[in-house]
Amino acid sequence: MCFRIAMLSLHTSPLAPLGRTRDAGGMNVYVRELARELGRGSMYVDIFTRRSDPTAPPMQCLNDHVRLISIPAGPALPLPPSELFPYVEDFSRRVARFAERGEHGYDLVHSHYWLSAVAGMTLAREWDVPHVTMFHTVERLKSQQYGAPAGPASPASALRIEHEGRIAASADTIIVSTEHEREQLRRLYGLPASRLQIIPCGVDLRAFTPGSPQDRRAARQRLAPTHAPTNAPTLLSVGRLDPIKGLDLLLESVAQMKIPARLIVIGGDPAGDAEVERLRALAETLGIGDRVEFPGAVAQPELVNYYRAADALVITSRYESFGLVAVEALAAGTPVVAAQVGGLPSIVRDGKNGLLVRWRCAQAFAERLDTLLGDDALRARLAAAARPSVEHFDWRRIGDTVRAMYQELTAARREAVACCCF
Ligand code: UDP
Repeated sequence: MCFRIAMLSLHTSPLAPLGRTRDAGGMNVYVRELARELGRGSMYVDIFTRRSDPTAPPMQCLNDHVRLISIPAGPALPLPPSELFPYVEDFSRRVARFAERGEHGYDLVHSHYWLSAVAGMTLAREWDVPHVTMFHTVERLKSQQYGAPAGPASPASALRIEHEGRIAASADTIIVSTEHEREQLRRLYGLPASRLQIIPCGVDLRAFTPGSPQDRRAARQRLAPTHAPTNAPTLLSVGRLDPIKGLDLLLESVAQMKIPARLIVIGGDPAGDAEVERLRALAETLGIGDRVEFPGAVAQPELVNYYRAADALVITSRYESFGLVAVEALAAGTPVVAAQVGGLPSIVRDGKNGLLVRWRCAQAFAERLDTLLGDDALRARLAAAARPSVEHFDWRRIGDTVRAMYQELTAARREAVACCCF
């Protein structure tokens, strides 16, 4: 029997270029890779996204079992998530109409981010199927990272908080990527542990590999600037240029280091980006302008060469619900120095495959980075442990867990329906 999933990714397409804007990063990778993995088995997945590009085809195939369907709802332009709520109802209606025209219905709705989850609640109710959701970020937790002042939230924030509460109360299962996230949601919404399932994000272990020592040397040589020696200590940052990533702290930390390390900051629009310009100016002010490079966003298949070329990936984020880039760097055999926040401690083990920094201050980061770069033996030990430490994040394994969860939920729903008939 075929199992059909309606996967909702309203605010961003899983095929959007990664890291270039603030709205395309880990969630896009997650939706794309999970759908592909589910499609490799016997499941069929339709991913529904809002049409934000008038030239995009209405339907694309990601593999034999996976389709990406662009649903017109609101203007066919990229819009920030904060402007999309008025189009959610229309989006749901059009997804329902699309489903009516098909030969088969869906067995389950899996939504990503709160806007999709609002649509997911409506569709799951209408089709009488289970609704699985993943918040990716939660407004009440996110605002805490910025030290949100006590008092009323902005109207946009209040709207999101209200809906996230409704989603938490109604979804059959909420997927969280770490134990830490499960505890936070349990406390925030008083949810029973049974409705929260921990399933980490996966990594493409075939794409992100350490390579041979020659591969690593070649990667380093290719990225070496003409004015610096190939063996100059090299640090790397990869991600969307969003304030949550704490890049100001990263630059301040590098400026305070005793070792004059080179820093490559990947992310942002290579064709021109106000945030890159701001960060470049900050690097100049801090006196490290000649050691910091901003190549812009890099296509994912190319990223492995950056990970291989670096001595360490540095993550100074204020918050990370998971932190895919940490897993990718480790899979590529590169240690990670990360802030001890959110889900990062479930990936980075202090002194084993990287270093964790407890305090959000430049001096603490600078000290740990100097320690790592100044100690060849330590770096070699952490690098050797990096790849084995993330092999359990293989997408095949994650896909099996998600499939089993879907099947359990639909079986329980059928049983409940059968009981009601007697
Ligand atoms: N990424 C990329 N190119 C870039 C920047 C980021 O391919 O220039 C990808 C990166 O490989 C990772 C994802 O975007 O898979 C970022 O995920 P993460 O969980 O680290 O951060 P999020 O975007 O979820 O905050």
